[in-house]
Amino acid sequence: MTARASGHVRPTGARRSWWLREALAAEAAADPGLASPDAAPPLRGTTTADVAIVGGGYTGLWTAIRIAEQAPGARVVLLESDICGGGPSGRNGGFATGWWDELPTLIERHGVSGAVSAALAIDDAVDEIGTWSAANGVDAWYTRRGTLSVSAAPAQDDKWVEAVAACAATGYGDRYQSLDPQAVQARVASPVIRAGAFMPVAATIQPAVLARGLRRVALERGVVIHEGTRVEELDGERPGWLGGIGSGGRRAQAGKTGRPVRIRTSGDGPGEVIAGSAVVGMNAWAAAWPSFGRRLVTWSSYIVLTEPIPDRLEEIGWTGGEGLADARFTLHYLRTTRDGRIAIGGGGGRAGFGGRIGAVFTDDATATARAEAGLRRLFPSLRGVRIEDAWGGPIDISADHLPSIGTVPGRPIHFAQGYSGNGVAPSLVAGRALAGLALGTEPVGLAPEAAEALVGGRARAFPPEPFRYLGARVIREAIVRREAIEERGETAGPVLREITRLPRRLGYHLSPD
Ligand SMILES: Cc1cc2nc3c(=O)[nH]c(=O)nc-3n(C[C@H](O)[C@H](O)[C@H](O)COP(=O)(O)OP(=O)(O)OC[C@H]3O[C@@H](n4cnc5c(N)ncnc54)[C@H](O)[C@@H]3O)c2cc1C
Repeated sequence: MTARASGHVRPTGARRSWWLREALAAEAAADPGLASPDAAPPLRGTTTADVAIVGGGYTGLWTAIRIAEQAPGARVVLLESDICGGGPSGRNGGFATGWWDELPTLIERHGVSGAVSAALAIDDAVDEIGTWSAANGVDAWYTRRGTLSVSAAPAQDDKWVEAVAACAATGYGDRYQSLDPQAVQARVASPVIRAGAFMPVAATIQPAVLARGLRRVALERGVVIHEGTRVEELDGERPGWLGGIGSGGRRAQAGKTGRPVRIRTSGDGPGEVIAGSAVVGMNAWAAAWPSFGRRLVTWSSYIVLTEPIPDRLEEIGWTGGEGLADARFTLHYLRTTRDGRIAIGGGGGRAGFGGRIGAVFTDDATATARAEAGLRRLFPSLRGVRIEDAWGGPIDISADHLPSIGTVPGRPIHFAQGYSGNGVAPSLVAGRALAGLALGTEPVGLAPEAAEALVGGRARAFPPEPFRYLGARVIREAIVRREAIEERGETAGPVLREITRLPRRLGYHLSPD
């Protein structure tokens, strides 16, 4: 890829993200055996497992590690079509943030006490990523300096007011506080940033180092990992390009428990796992499967990375290590790196069709241009700074923008899905809950009120394809256009505003108002 001072930067496409390339290089230098394909070879032939896990991102790996801790004799087999961390867990922005900005939605969904318990569980997860990494020798650049939500246009000025008030009203006013413009500028100086809010329990990490560290620890605890192994059929169900609707072959009969789950794979030839139960941590890929697809819309998110600019960070005063996000619905999220770069993502990706996770998620130069334009707008003084890398990935959006953790009715198949672009900390909690579901125990390390709030509910379904794709595409583009108009200090026309309000009118938390 050619580094450019401005204009379009070609994303990495099928190549690894910058984070993952760094992490794999460090891993190979530290322990060539661990990095070799022999550590996690593709599955060949038939094997058995107490628990089979599909997906080698944070969800699958945390679940595997918790099961290994709770039931050391259990045979856990994890199946990953790529390599562990090859998906969004190795290519995200690395924000581990609390849920206090989601408190009003959480209260709507779980009541005050459930909402607060859930938010406290996510706070614990933010902290535990740090303590776990330190205890297990994973240097994931854990930096717990909080995160700032900022307004970068008049239309964004009051976006956090409701959440800040809900935190104060529930006795957790210290978890999300408004900051006046001077206080924001003292942390990061920008001519377009107006006011903001600060969430102290938030960290940034090198996401791929965490994913690969989880893989190492899982292997050390006896988890059998098969990379390069794609699950083609799960308990009689197959993925379909229409998002699993009307496709996918024979559905297993609901209500039959106590029978094993049969999983067929491809990779180095056909493979099969016969497991007592299964855990699905497929993220956006779940959109292709009949049991999961209707509750997800897939969306792309892209990140661009600057050259190292530590002295320029000094100039804008952004040396505290805080995460930063503007208050657009199609938000820009920014963080600094250990070597003084800025990584900025978002600004509006595209909808995927059905269950297809194709080039739109990894090779969309328009999306990286949008992320880069966000950087240049927020920090005009960085105009000449080169963009050195860019990459993207899919996110799994749920109707209420919050994850669902549960069990497919009548089948020993457990899942976590719908992180909606905020999965780094929640996936740790999901791992605890999924381990409990798979082992038939209460989740360990999760308060009962939090477990009650977080486990068992399911976000509402989306319309079938092609309506899901068309709706998501039209509305999302309308939101991007409206927010661009508002950033210029203008008011969007009534038709555009009405289109962007449609999701909320239909009961989906997927639009700004
Ligand atoms: C660009 C980007 C930026 C993001 N930034 C942030 C952020 O800053 N903070 C935050 O909290 N969240 C962020 N997210 C979201 C976050 O990365 C995810 O929510 C999180 O990684 C989900 O973890 P997971 O294990 O569920 O999914 P993944 O990491 O996607 O893992 C799922 C795995 O399943 C595998 N798989 C799929 N289908 C099959 C199959 N049939 N057989 C076998 N394996 C299969 C995939 O190859 C993949 O490795 C971001 C996402 C993207 C794309």
